[in-house]
Amino acid sequence: EQDCRLKLIESRVRAFPDFPKKGILFRDICPILKDPEALLAVTSLFEEYVKDKFQQVDLVVAGLDARGFLFGPLLAQRLGVGFVLVRKKGKLPGATVSVAYDLEYGKAEAEIQADAVSPGQKVILIDDLLATGGTLFAACALMRQLKAEVLGCLVAVELKDLNGADKLKPHSVYSLLQYE
Ligand code: AMP
Repeated sequence: EQDCRLKLIESRVRAFPDFPKKGILFRDICPILKDPEALLAVTSLFEEYVKDKFQQVDLVVAGLDARGFLFGPLLAQRLGVGFVLVRKKGKLPGATVSVAYDLEYGKAEAEIQADAVSPGQKVILIDDLLATGGTLFAACALMRQLKAEVLGCLVAVELKDLNGADKLKPHSVYSLLQYE
């Protein structure tokens, strides 16, 4: 039954060669969102994993703009917890904390509102896709600054070749689909 949900999700991920630039095989998750059954499959698999693995979760935190924002609130609602977002620098009002992180070419900054997460809170990080892990690594660094406890990271798609899961150690990564 889990298998059939995974098959459905897999059938709703498209690959586009050379997007956004040459040499990148872009995994497009938009068809998942267009199909309510596939979206429910993603949310329910995440929910079951989290409920099975962690006794207490205080918050779901989404990795950077924008596709982490798609699955995060749905999961948070099902877990009965709040949702907060990490964004690119300059998008969030009020007091914030930020961290610089590496992109494939150059650097960027990730930011979270200073009161979004309290010290000691147990959080789940979520994003659509794990590539090099740079993005979720930055989100982990923000959690460390705010003294929250990262229980683990969830992604719909993991690109295994890029070893993002190693970069995130000791945090665990749970992915629904894996590609080389
Ligand atoms: P990274 O920080 O390298 O793990 O990259 C993760 C972020 O970049 C995710 O939030 C994805 O939305 C996006 N991304 C990176 N590589 C791809 C890819 N091949 N296909 C689709 N999205 C990607």
